[in-house]
Amino acid sequence: MIVSACLLGLNCRYDGGNVKSEELIKAVEDRCVIPVCPEQLGGLPTPRETCEIVSGDGFDVLKGKGRVLSKSGVDYTENFVKGAKEVLKIVKTFGIKLAILKDLSPSCGVKMIYDGTFSGKTKVGVGVCTALLRLNGVEVFTVEEFLNKE
Ligand code: SF4
Repeated sequence: MIVSACLLGLNCRYDGGNVKSEELIKAVEDRCVIPVCPEQLGGLPTPRETCEIVSGDGFDVLKGKGRVLSKSGVDYTENFVKGAKEVLKIVKTFGIKLAILKDLSPSCGVKMIYDGTFSGKTKVGVGVCTALLRLNGVEVFTVEEFLNKE
C-alpha cells in the first residue's frame, strides 16, 4: 500500500511539519508500506505556500477545468499533476491497489478538500492524486476509514 508520508511522521507538509498517526503506524506495521508525498514528487519545496483547488476538485484539475493556486495566486497546477503521475508510477510499478491518504489536502484529499477561498471552509471533493489513483483502480481511504474497516 501507499500512505501519505506526512501521516507516517515525515516532515513533508507545506509548513515543514507532519500529521503523524501512531494509530495508523501500528495498524500497518506488518504491511508493505511505501510513503509518498505527491507535492514533493511534483517538484515543490518544503516548506511551501499553502495551496487549494480553485473551482472543482482533483477530477476537474485532471480534466483541465480546475486549477491549483497558492494563497498569493501562483498557479502550481502542473506540479500537482506531475506529483500525482509520479505516485501513479510507483503504484503501477508495484501493482499497488490500496492507498491511505491525508484528507483535506489538495493532493491527498479523500473525502473533503478546502473550497478554494483560503478561508478555512471545506467542501466535498478529492485531491489531484486521489483522483488519478481512483481513475486507475486504486482504492483510496482516509485514516479513519481504514482503521474502521480493519
Ligand atoms: S501532499 Fe499529501 S503526503 Fe504530502 S504533505 Fe500534503 S497531505 Fe501529506
